[in-house]
Amino acid sequence: MKPTKKVFVTGGAGYIGSHTALSLLEAGYDVVVLDNLCNASQEALHRVEQLAGRALTFIEGDIRDRACLDKLFREHDIHAVIHFAGLKAVGESVSAPLAYYDTNVNGSITLCQAMLQAGVFRLVFSSSATVYGPEAPIPYIESMPRGATSNPYGASKSIVEQVLDDLVRSDERWSIAMLRYFNPIGAHSSGMIGEDPQGTPNNLMPYIAQVAVGRRSTLTVFGNDYATADGTCVRDYLHVMDLAEGHVSALDRLTLPGSHIYNLGTGQGLSVLQMIEAFERVSERQIPYQFASRREGDLAAFWADPSKAEKELGWQALRGLDEMIADTWRWQRQNPNGYRTEINTTSQGTS
Ligand code: NAD
Ligand code: UDP
Repeated sequence: MKPTKKVFVTGGAGYIGSHTALSLLEAGYDVVVLDNLCNASQEALHRVEQLAGRALTFIEGDIRDRACLDKLFREHDIHAVIHFAGLKAVGESVSAPLAYYDTNVNGSITLCQAMLQAGVFRLVFSSSATVYGPEAPIPYIESMPRGATSNPYGASKSIVEQVLDDLVRSDERWSIAMLRYFNPIGAHSSGMIGEDPQGTPNNLMPYIAQVAVGRRSTLTVFGNDYATADGTCVRDYLHVMDLAEGHVSALDRLTLPGSHIYNLGTGQGLSVLQMIEAFERVSERQIPYQFASRREGDLAAFWADPSKAEKELGWQALRGLDEMIADTWRWQRQNPNGYRTEINTTSQGTS
């Protein structure tokens, strides 16, 4: 019998990492998660195990801790690494740039050093659409150059992409997929795992969901004077389970040496007002909102050209907007306080 391949998932207790850990277990991989739990709860992983019907290995540790990484690689025969661990709040990155560069850039370099020593050369890296920069024409295509970045978070992603490009040029054993995510939303259809931001949500969808569930009174819409159809910003929202499955598809690509960039998005842009309307329709709740001035650093509109991922990975975002919202809402309603509450199994979805 062929031995099961083991995937090391950094930041696997977080939002995208936990959904990806589930997809990996369901695809037959064994999973080792390293997370320092600075923005996550171990409860997410307990629920992943429940959903998958089998266990994963969890190690509480820091991606910048080389000794911890070396020990992990000694104790586990790792086939590939999926690297989610990092800090992701754009605004916070402006006030705490050193923390962002340390975790995101230094953490990635430390990981690659440990991989090199362990002889593990397959890596999937969480990048972002933000690396295209403000001047890029839409839709974004992978062949476009990386653009200017306006904040340390975006710069950290761009720097790591550059480091990884240089790494594959230095040594042909490396095979690296850099996945540029657009706007992941939604939750697993069970409502057992989902996005659980600490404090006030920065992102649109968790904010709307918290208004719908009564945790917050009003959504603030940042800007209604953009050059878009209804004046609000346009983004490419994709279901987190589609995104998770994109990682499983990318692992198959890691037989080819070099670095491979893929946009993971739907290819369709939706405005903030369209998202509010859709949420109200699917959840049958009203979302009170008020307009405020533009949020610094926001671009008017961008979305992906996802055709390269479709052609080379055989991956497509399959779940539509109503499913993304119904799943977000089920998660939020069953877990009004995120992982800090027990699941209320009596509540059922409206769709
Ligand atoms: P998340 O905060 O839910 O997950 C990140 C995880 O990394 C958390 O569990 C956190 O505890 C862990 N972590 C942070 N610093 C660590 C450290 N020093 N050592 C070990 N673990 C650490 O965020 P997410 O939304 O799941 O994002 C995952 C990755 O995807 C991040 O790299 C993020 O920048 C990237 N990304 C996210 C989005 C998005 O909209 N969510 C978009 C583009 C890219
Ligand atoms: N947004 C908003 N109110 C919020 C959060 C976000 O109007 O409370 C807007 C934001 O200005 C942007 C869109 O929603 O136009 C998506 O924002 P998000 O932070 O979710 O994603 P990103 O800015 O990273 O694309």
